[in-house]
Amino acid sequence: MNDELSPDTLAVRAGTLRTGFQEHAEALFLTSSFVYGSAAEAAARFSGAEPGNIYARFTNPSVTMFEERLAALEGAERCVAFASGMAAILATVMGLMKAGEHVVASRSLFGSTVQLFQNILGRFGVETTFVSATDAAEWQAAVKPNTRLFFLESPSNPLTEISDIRALADLAHASGAWLAVDNCFCTPILQKPLELGADIVIHSATKYLDGQGRVLGGAVLGGKTLLEPIFTFLRTAGPTLSAFNAWVLLKGLETLPLRMRAHSENALALASWLEQQPGVSRVLYPGLPSHPQHVLAMAQQKSGGGIVAFEVEGGRDAAWRVIDATRVMSITANLGDTRTTITHPATTTHGRLSPEQRAAAGIGDGLVRIAVGLEALDDLRADLARGLG
Ligand SMILES: *Cc1c(COP(=O)(O)O)cnc(C)c1O
Repeated sequence: MNDELSPDTLAVRAGTLRTGFQEHAEALFLTSSFVYGSAAEAAARFSGAEPGNIYARFTNPSVTMFEERLAALEGAERCVAFASGMAAILATVMGLMKAGEHVVASRSLFGSTVQLFQNILGRFGVETTFVSATDAAEWQAAVKPNTRLFFLESPSNPLTEISDIRALADLAHASGAWLAVDNCFCTPILQKPLELGADIVIHSATKYLDGQGRVLGGAVLGGKTLLEPIFTFLRTAGPTLSAFNAWVLLKGLETLPLRMRAHSENALALASWLEQQPGVSRVLYPGLPSHPQHVLAMAQQKSGGGIVAFEVEGGRDAAWRVIDATRVMSITANLGDTRTTITHPATTTHGRLSPEQRAAAGIGDGLVRIAVGLEALDDLRADLARGLG
């Protein structure tokens, strides 16, 4: 049935389970365990002979509804939810890899993802080579006989670099590896990596899926067989999404298509306006024809998304002046919220890098990143104009 329905319909309808009370809105199941009608039924549940809930470390009906709704939107056979985006990434590696194996990952990843691969998984014998998000030749050159996983985010944060998902999926498969895509910035409304050949999609549900900055959550999606060991890690180790957070996220998903369209529309208009402003030396937004990978972005995404980066002349002082002059935008590194957020990557999210590393990554002192929210465009433009003038 899901194949025939549009994302707008799936977002409000898919995955709904009803109890005998026939409640219209999805129920919140605040229970840690489930009871059985008999000893034989308990035995059948535990052995797996009979499906059903046992213990909320690994299944809960509110969490299941969230998983099924998100799976329908991504077009995935299976979804497993986690306590956070980072828990979802960790579980993917713990489920699919072992010591002595190798990852090729984009250099342009969320900071904690880089730390996880570099500093934590490295101690357990999983080695990672970091390569350019945009240069497939670097991915090819980094492949080793023990490479099992390619990992990327597209668009990247904060520079909105676009990775060619189909080309890298083909390369991963030719190398005996899986491709995992962190689809946090686009959500399935704007980009469906599984359709482009990726094996795994990962979400920080904390961002656009909630969309209102309320709860943490994460998810891994893909084929049934590939997801089984990832589910087994969840069942055993317990980085579980709470039922309450799942219920909040279910409500978030209902407005996801509307919100993503509005975020993209506002971001494109703001980015086009920024390009015309004196003192702005460059604007990075995949929806602008001036973006170096505009054509690729428009081929694999429905629109440019909500993240805009721009560079002001005058370095750190000028960037801080723009940020400090805002009255509507929130000065915070979080993103994916109805409220616009503004941040200075060089002194916050990327502040731990050396000046040389930042220069190599293209993150200048004049760079400002905005996660464009749902406020009126006129108010956002006025908010930035104050500090640019
Ligand atoms: C925030 C974020 C994460 C981590 O998610 P949490 O829910 O904060 O653990 C991973 N990837 C990207 C792209 C993110 O923006």
